[in-house]
Amino acid sequence: MVDLDKIISLCKRRGFIFQGSDQYGGLQGTWDYGPLGVELKNNVKKAWWRRVVYERDDMEGLDCAILMNRLVLKYSGHEETFSDPMVDCRKCKKRFRADQVDHNEKCAEGDKHDLTEPRPFNLMFKTTVGPVAEENNIAYLRPETAQGIFINFKNVLDSTNRKLPFGIAQIGKSYRNEITPRNFIFRVREFEQMEIEFFVKPGTDDEWHSKWVEDRFNWYVELGIKPENLRKYEQKPEELAHYAKATVDLLYRFFPEREDENKQFDEVEGIANRTDFDLTCHTKGGKLVLADGREIPNTHAVNKLTYFDHETNQHILPYVVEPSAGVDRATLAFLMDSYFEETVNDGQRIVLRLHPELAPIKVAVLPLKKNHDGIRNTAMQIKNTLMKKSGWRTVYDDTAGIGKLYRRQDEIGTPFCVTVDFDTLEDQSVTVRDRDTMAQERVKIDALQDYLAKKLGNCR
Ligand code: ATP
Repeated sequence: MVDLDKIISLCKRRGFIFQGSDQYGGLQGTWDYGPLGVELKNNVKKAWWRRVVYERDDMEGLDCAILMNRLVLKYSGHEETFSDPMVDCRKCKKRFRADQVDHNEKCAEGDKHDLTEPRPFNLMFKTTVGPVAEENNIAYLRPETAQGIFINFKNVLDSTNRKLPFGIAQIGKSYRNEITPRNFIFRVREFEQMEIEFFVKPGTDDEWHSKWVEDRFNWYVELGIKPENLRKYEQKPEELAHYAKATVDLLYRFFPEREDENKQFDEVEGIANRTDFDLTCHTKGGKLVLADGREIPNTHAVNKLTYFDHETNQHILPYVVEPSAGVDRATLAFLMDSYFEETVNDGQRIVLRLHPELAPIKVAVLPLKKNHDGIRNTAMQIKNTLMKKSGWRTVYDDTAGIGKLYRRQDEIGTPFCVTVDFDTLEDQSVTVRDRDTMAQERVKIDALQDYLAKKLGNCR
């Protein structure tokens, strides 16, 4: 299986992902998605949205502001507890996340690091809103999209007349001042999340939790992740957050080079049963209960976040199941799982066997000879017609010989190449080449779109 280094090199070479602020030496923990990366990432998000919103009858979408009133993060518990344990080396002053220190690492000042006791480091990015930078104007960049969903529970409920169970989905940026961002887009300071809060009646939460674990696992597999590279990990009671009744993490084999197989896997998504913890924190007259038992009454919230249950004639606080995935980690998993190096007749090829729905480009139309007007114009025309009629991202490329053009498209995961040659001008047919099998088939131009539509399935 491919390791991260090869993926990083492919991403830079072919324009998937670049270091953030590269032109000025970079900014640690940030990455910019290039021409192909933005397509791939958008396709991951579209595939998720289609699956969890469009294809279900019990979901609504939402898109909240990234800047949040400080009170949201106060009553959610983030101000008090959203921290990682940090240690410093007394000799070289380097900082580490206490649970991620490599105790064999050499200190720049010689011998091993001399580490302090761990102390909490809050991961939220603080800023001020408005022209006066003072304490009262402090706001945070959201560290997760979830809080926006909780505080809008009543707005969505009242405006849609939903009945339990129903869920709210959101995709968007989140920010965490990670102590040690690393491993490419795996751990970064600015990232995107795809989160669902699924509200259910208490008592039905266990069943819904299991259903969501299955559904989310299957989503990755249906989009091409090999089941042997994806694991469900049920958190042990001592690992659970104090408010969670159960959490199953989906782990992907991000680090295949590690000797210990268990260490090869890390989290791409977590599915938690959070009970009514969050709605209790944010509801008018509610309270935040911290892990140490302290209670902080909510004296600021303006609405009750309750649901009127017509069966029991009671106002209840729904329970919530939260499938929370990282867009960047999912994108990385799809890249890694689809990467293959193969020996073929005329040498080596790198191929991304991306699911067609995720492929940045669906079809490339290639002229066999670029300085032949008839061939070039026909190829251009086919490209324009295909794109307009189907909506697929279709490209035209004549910047190299056909062999090289095929290799380029293989390397970025384009499922089909359409080649226009001299015979095309006589028989109105083109050659369609399949990325995975490299098999070629002659297809009439008139029938091309239907032919490709059958193969590409649900793609847009
Ligand atoms: P970790 O333990 O790896 O720090 P977490 O358990 O804190 O992750 P959650 O708060 O559960 O993560 O966030 C949900 C998802 O958001 C994660 O499964 C992951 O895919 C993504 N995510 C969280 N932090 C980062 C980050 N710093 N960079 C990229 N993705 C992230």
